[in-house]
Amino acid sequence: MGGTFDPVHYGHLVTAGEAHWQFGLDVVLFVPNRHPPHKDPHDVSSPEHRYLMTFLATATHPRFMVSRIEIDRPGPSYTIDTIRELGRAYPGGEFFYITGADALGQILRGEWRDAEELLRLCHFIGASRPGYYLDLAQWSAAHHHAGPHLHNIHTMEIPAMAISSTDIRNRVREGRPITYLVPEAVEQYIVKHNLYTEARAPLRGRTG
Ligand code: ATP
Ligand code: MG
Repeated sequence: MGGTFDPVHYGHLVTAGEAHWQFGLDVVLFVPNRHPPHKDPHDVSSPEHRYLMTFLATATHPRFMVSRIEIDRPGPSYTIDTIRELGRAYPGGEFFYITGADALGQILRGEWRDAEELLRLCHFIGASRPGYYLDLAQWSAAHHHAGPHLHNIHTMEIPAMAISSTDIRNRVREGRPITYLVPEAVEQYIVKHNLYTEARAPLRGRTG
């Protein structure tokens, strides 16, 4: 499961836990990105902060792991590079890339690097996410590049989690509570390191 995880929240954890169960996965590897190609790097917390929060959030789950594969790779973090690297590290392994409906929509619209190759190399699990609608049939008709590998795309209903990192950052900045939206250790980490308190203009929603 890739993401910016700025910060990691229960929407990510529920999605990962449900995918682990529904698809019988051996492990769920959380892969915080270094430099998300779709986001302004100045708007994103340092990779080490995001890595450590993800580590704290997943530490108690026996099958959740965190990878430094993108954090340690210079330059923009392209998922295709990560999947190729994982394929070399675990030959014969079967990979399922876990996303929310918004991210899967970007992939199917061809907005991620080498989207067609990505769809060939691994399965995708698209979780329901409030505010985003998944319609694979419509996409396959409109975006023929995704057509050949649509059988690798799986959808998954999860309990609706209207949580986003953008909202959590805004809440911290405005002094509103984030308890029960993120794990306790993540909340304490945010306070300890004084994250998200500076006004980063503008306070717009950032997705992807
Ligand atoms: P931001 O608001 O900064 O974009 P985010 O909450 O969308 O943050 P990301 O790190 O961008 O979190 O997302 C990582 C992955 O988790 C993406 O595939 C995204 O679709 C998925 N995801 C995030 N929040 C949810 C949620 N509440 N329900 C389902 N999937 C989610
Ligand atoms: Mg996002």
